[in-house]
Amino acid sequence: MNLARFARRRYTPGFTSLEPMPRLSAALGGAELWIKRDDLLGLAGGGNKTRKLEFLVADAIAQGCDTLVTVGAPQSNHCRLTLAAAAREGLQCRLVIEERVPGTYRTNALGNNLLFDLMGAEIIRNVPPGTDLGAEMAAEVAAVAALGRKAYAIVGGGSNALGALGYAACAGEIMAQSFELGVAFDRIVVASGSAGTHAGLLTGLVALNAGVPVTGINVRRPQAEQEANVHKLAVATAELMGTPAPARDAVVALDRWVGPGYSLPTADMVAAVRLLAQSEGILLDPVYTGKAMAGFVALVRDGTFAAGQRMLFLHTGGSPSLHAYADDLRDPALN
Ligand SMILES: *Cc1c(COP(=O)(O)O)cnc(C)c1O
Repeated sequence: MNLARFARRRYTPGFTSLEPMPRLSAALGGAELWIKRDDLLGLAGGGNKTRKLEFLVADAIAQGCDTLVTVGAPQSNHCRLTLAAAAREGLQCRLVIEERVPGTYRTNALGNNLLFDLMGAEIIRNVPPGTDLGAEMAAEVAAVAALGRKAYAIVGGGSNALGALGYAACAGEIMAQSFELGVAFDRIVVASGSAGTHAGLLTGLVALNAGVPVTGINVRRPQAEQEANVHKLAVATAELMGTPAPARDAVVALDRWVGPGYSLPTADMVAAVRLLAQSEGILLDPVYTGKAMAGFVALVRDGTFAAGQRMLFLHTGGSPSLHAYADDLRDPALN
């Protein structure tokens, strides 16, 4: 794996920290739990999309583009970070917002929605669920071209092979830190959504022959469907890197913590967000890392992640959306 061959912009100075979670480990009384703080990546508010955008925006600039176009949900961390990268690079940015849960899009919402406005999106267009997002992005690219400019379309979540390189790079970063600390991990657990993070991480670990398995925790799709998505993207990412593709059975994406659907709160998610905040002083998010942590906690409690094992949770960010879910997250006794 030689990622220096790919053009890259830098949005984070150095590595994100990799920390033990002694209080959470003690509270759960099982495996030894660690966390990789990708919530502390660069660009406004941090989170996993920053790593993908380092490669995607470099490609946009190499192609002479002056505008980024992307898609996401009303509280999209990916849209927030694409906007932040555009601001940093002096590019314009247009967002197509897919209202995945009908009736939830409000122009005056807090969280990421407020940040879209603060960071100056050129256009924010709301479309109903099931809309052909590729076609909507193509329409924006054409509209930009009609103005004599040039737009670069970034797929949802930045999850194509080029974006996934960001998480192959993260695999290298984790293995370097693991070696430096003299701490070997038995498994890495990560939220699995548009699949670029899961696929890139797994492909990087396989390329490094790290021998560390990955467990994905789904936030949207049934297990078989998500595993197929992740594997397909992992194969494409390996091809781009010129490294061996992960086997299909190395892709595990559990769906037990999705609840009623994408972005819809669950009791386990609320408990996990509150547990991590109170045991380690670390903020998760309601849509991705809260559900992933709910799975992580459950797998420690039921003994799947047993005492004597060392487990690493990859914190992919998202805390800027907490305020948009305040009513779901507050202590019910105080409401
Ligand atoms: C997008 C996102 C994820 C999921 O990553 P994918 O690469 O889309 O699978 C996880 N956590 C947060 C906070 C995100 O914004």
